[in-house]
Amino acid sequence: MILQNNKTKNKGGKKGFVTGGARGIGKCTATGFAQAGADVAIVDLDFEEAQKTAAELAEATGRKVIAIKCDCTSKEDVDAMVAKVVAELGGLDFCHNNAGICINAPAEEMTYEQWLKVININLNGIFLTDIAAGKYMLENGGGSIINTASMSAHIVNVPQPQCAYNASKAAVIQLTKSLAIEWAKRGVRVNSISPGYIGTDLVLQSKTLIPLIEKWNAMAPMGRLGKPEELESICVYLAGDTSSFTTGSDFIIDGAFTCF
Ligand code: NAD
Repeated sequence: MILQNNKTKNKGGKKGFVTGGARGIGKCTATGFAQAGADVAIVDLDFEEAQKTAAELAEATGRKVIAIKCDCTSKEDVDAMVAKVVAELGGLDFCHNNAGICINAPAEEMTYEQWLKVININLNGIFLTDIAAGKYMLENGGGSIINTASMSAHIVNVPQPQCAYNASKAAVIQLTKSLAIEWAKRGVRVNSISPGYIGTDLVLQSKTLIPLIEKWNAMAPMGRLGKPEELESICVYLAGDTSSFTTGSDFIIDGAFTCF
């Protein structure tokens, strides 16, 4: 088991949660964590879908997998969620803070409400979950935090205009590095992943994005979207003890999209 816990206080499989875990990238990394021996909480705004995912993963892996309803933009919800994970799973060793949205609009037409919505979920939500989880980990023997940024933190995607998304994801990487430095000597590691275009509902269910897939594929060195499963093992690595010297790093998984 890769995600085995060696802490005396909390032996057995590691315990963790995934925000935005009901579907897409979060569902895939939650699957990877459970398959590697961890007990996992599926944390999502969409409680019905989170419950389905939790039941499916518990059945498939034999691990304890629970669903928790939480709006990651609410400090009250996030603090209660972390307390519930600790109470129901028996601790917290890692988390994947992954919930996020994208709104496409030309900058001069984007409303302030749209801007705030994206920043609130993609950046403030990550801050709230990082801090709530980090506080527990600092006081309880350490842990590993993984944030989902994006290749949009590194490049400006075209042709779709998405300034709020790009800005929010770039900020996630600097937040990740800042927390990694603050907590480096205190046992809490913080890293981020920066996926390229991945074939999840965020893309495949969006009327504005579907027509762009062909254009993106034409620009992509591999000529295709990534699959959410292709992000699983890097997150299992980051959650586990073999990545003990890895903190403050961002991992771009984009099929070389940002290389030129
Ligand atoms: P998705 O839309 O398939 O899933 C996102 C999940 O987050 C949903 O289950 C949704 O209910 C949940 N969610 C949304 N707002 C929430 C909130 N306030 N509180 C709790 N849960 C909330 O998206 P995805 O493609 O799996 O994306 C996951 C993450 O990966 C996002 O941060 C996204 O920006 C990032 N990302 C995606 C791609 C891509 O191409 N799909 C590329 C790079 C980065």
